[in-house]
Amino acid sequence: MVKRLLNTYLSDFLSLFYPNLCIGCDRVLPKGGKYLCPKCLYNLPKTRTHELEVPQFKEKFEGLVQLRDILVYIHFHKNGLTQKVLHELKYGNMPDVGEMMGKRYAYDLLHAGLGNAFDLIVPVPLHPKRLKQRGYNQSEYFGKGLSIVLGIPMNTSDLIKVKHIDSQTKKSKLNRIKSVEGVFDVVDNNALRNKRILLVDDLLTTGSTLVACLEVLGNCEPKSMSIATIGGAK
Ligand SMILES: [Zn+2]
Repeated sequence: MVKRLLNTYLSDFLSLFYPNLCIGCDRVLPKGGKYLCPKCLYNLPKTRTHELEVPQFKEKFEGLVQLRDILVYIHFHKNGLTQKVLHELKYGNMPDVGEMMGKRYAYDLLHAGLGNAFDLIVPVPLHPKRLKQRGYNQSEYFGKGLSIVLGIPMNTSDLIKVKHIDSQTKKSKLNRIKSVEGVFDVVDNNALRNKRILLVDDLLTTGSTLVACLEVLGNCEPKSMSIATIGGAK
């Protein structure tokens, strides 16, 4: 009790000098606020892919893998709010912002009746070398938020990244697909068999990383495969 009180005093005192700022607009957050101010939270550019008749982002996967649901939380625009959030998640040592986004998105999914649509959450893994560098896997934190609210277990051990690859951004589509061949592998097929898998990542851009993961997951005979990402770029 005393310790908690002291912690509160200490954080109040520190916030006089180092106020917590909103990632989106740099304004001082209201007391108790974290990462994003109420206005930025309200203005998150939601895609609402789960409510649309015609799925968005579908063309990225067409002819490559069989997907049931494509769930993208918010639109990604260059220099936009989503980019700021994802930048802090990935490079700003703010893994908890991923968990927060996961929880918020999970409430939307629950509201849409998707609470019982999946059996297992699987985050896109980092190569061990990159994981050591960054200290955390940002996709896993997004998955953690979804997992807590939806009450679905997360498996972080059976989809692994076995090859370290360079940035994908400047390659052609064919070369991107080629360059991720053999990059991911599955440890225990049985853990994924007959499951409705939700593969989660921080950002959907070309889709080639997700496709590479889905290909190896597909070899485990899952019941269905879906994806969920925080951001989605057109
Ligand atoms: Zn803000």
